[in-house]
Amino acid sequence: MSQTETHHFQAEIQQLLNIVIHSLYTDKEIFVRELVSNAADACEKLRFHQSSGQPLHQADVAPGIAITTDDKAGTIIITDTGLGMTHGELVENLGTIAHSGTKAFLKQLAEDKKPDVGLIGQFGVGFYSAFMVANRVTVLSRSFGPEGQGWQWTSGGMGGYELTPAADLPRGTKITLELKDDAKDFAQEATVERIIQRYSSFVPFPIELNNKRLNTVQAIWSRSKNEIKEEEYNEFYTFVGHDHDKPLFRLHFSADAPLAIQALLFVPGRNFETMGMGRMDSEVNLYCRKVLIQAKAKGLFPEWLRFLKGVVDSEDLPLNISRESMQDTSLMQKLNRVLTGRLLKFLEEQSVKDAEGYSKFYGEYQRFLKEGVVTDYTHKEALGKLLRFESSTLERGGLTSLSEYVQRMPSEQKEIYCLLATNRAAAEASPYFEVFRERKFEVLFLYDAWDEFVIEHLREFEGKPLKLAEKAELDISTKKDGALSEDASKSLAQWLKATLGDKVGEVRVSQRLVESPAVVVDSDKFMTASMRRLMKSMKQDAPEAGAAKHDFEVNPAHPIMARLDAMRQTDATLAGSVAEQLLDNARVAAGLLEDPRAMLARLNQLLEKVLTKD
Ligand code: ADP
Ligand code: MG
Repeated sequence: MSQTETHHFQAEIQQLLNIVIHSLYTDKEIFVRELVSNAADACEKLRFHQSSGQPLHQADVAPGIAITTDDKAGTIIITDTGLGMTHGELVENLGTIAHSGTKAFLKQLAEDKKPDVGLIGQFGVGFYSAFMVANRVTVLSRSFGPEGQGWQWTSGGMGGYELTPAADLPRGTKITLELKDDAKDFAQEATVERIIQRYSSFVPFPIELNNKRLNTVQAIWSRSKNEIKEEEYNEFYTFVGHDHDKPLFRLHFSADAPLAIQALLFVPGRNFETMGMGRMDSEVNLYCRKVLIQAKAKGLFPEWLRFLKGVVDSEDLPLNISRESMQDTSLMQKLNRVLTGRLLKFLEEQSVKDAEGYSKFYGEYQRFLKEGVVTDYTHKEALGKLLRFESSTLERGGLTSLSEYVQRMPSEQKEIYCLLATNRAAAEASPYFEVFRERKFEVLFLYDAWDEFVIEHLREFEGKPLKLAEKAELDISTKKDGALSEDASKSLAQWLKATLGDKVGEVRVSQRLVESPAVVVDSDKFMTASMRRLMKSMKQDAPEAGAAKHDFEVNPAHPIMARLDAMRQTDATLAGSVAEQLLDNARVAAGLLEDPRAMLARLNQLLEKVLTKD
């Protein structure tokens, strides 16, 4: 054919092709995404020309994409009815580099042992990914202009390409890939269907594969909220969330600064981690202009938000990132910051607007929020606002936020008090609670094993320190009648220390007890019984929680103490047994008594004494 022109690739393109052709890259399937994206772009541009009223070749043919596979011939063909290319455009677009960012990408590819071409499309050279799988690529194209003419572009990837006029072409572009032997799988319909569902489900033009329509769900995240029906949202959620139940919350938003973001995020109705499904992976997929860049994108949200599902679309994905480094790029961090901030704000709003929904959310996901407080310093404060606890001033089951608690604090109260307990009854019966009831200070009741860490990491809220009840330094305000005198109390305390010996640390006269005769307090200012238990459960050779030495505080106003003080003068042995029993009782109240056998034996002896008394 005399009309055939031979062209050389620009040096950089040839360099790129050499890498791509010999690439051992494993995700070769992304070539489908790239060619479909180009087809969709061409359709988009056609639509633009259409709307500007320009005359078009085949004006009645709607923009769309058709793919055919032929496993016998070993080919895949991607056809679009987009705007097509002229001779000049073919030369310009498929043989030279248009984007400046591409050079950096090339440099990086050339340095890598196993080049990661996954983001090739982001660098404006997606078309060339076809050569990862094809020996020969043939492009037939006819531009939309009425006087246009068709051209055939064909290349084996080495050296250059040939251009030949082609008569009677329909508008648009048809790309035929003659697949390499090791890529014949891409001539299988099922393979291609899977790839398109994965990457191109939301391409806004119809995609047909061997005459079957594939993409039926719309990229509703890019539409404005008030145009979208509830059913559309739900259908979309089912599609992206693989969940047939309704989501608990939905956040649809867009932002322009500091980044262009469109996001549609869902909180599933149930926490899948508690359903024995193991640790979840975030199911938020990252798109760039409706084309999937990364499924379950790592680093898009902090770990503690891994229950989210949905879509984030950003046009700002830059030209200088590779998949491995994507996690660390400042862009990813920026996205993370914007998205997390927005979501936290949303949850806070929800807690006010939809209290019922929020409490359901809290029931399912509180552990994630708590994980956030402990692991994510940046968002600690915002997360603190989302926490909810039972409290001594609320009915059983009622929950309060820390903000509400702070608002209720009387002016003389300086700290937020928290009491760790297994349940409401235990909390209210706890000797540590007595001083608070007496002083009418509200106490938060914390039942979750994680709460202690949460309190420890949060440290303070709205400037008020969070304090565990057992560590609070508070005194009963009023003196009780019938209490032992100060001197008598002190001397009883000394006797107790002498009697109990190594079983206790210090023995003190307590100022915090009302109803209980005595209480044990961890002698380590920062340790608590629950923390010791947890340490034991994580580390076998850590000492039993109860084995740690505790200080013993006695209530001078309790009748037992007055009688004990009298008895130690008359029957020191019996008084000694009672002292030991009081210590064990206090340990039981603190949940510290691991082995009750010795205590029961002693208790039986004491009962025997009581019963034989004449
Ligand atoms: P990018 O899409 O980022 O520009 P590509 O290497 O994928 O980079 O494509 C290069 C150019 O080739 C496109 O910008 C477009 O102008 C042209 N092109 C590729 N495929 C088509 C197509 N199917 N229809 C029209 N033009 C196309
Ligand atoms: Mg492209």
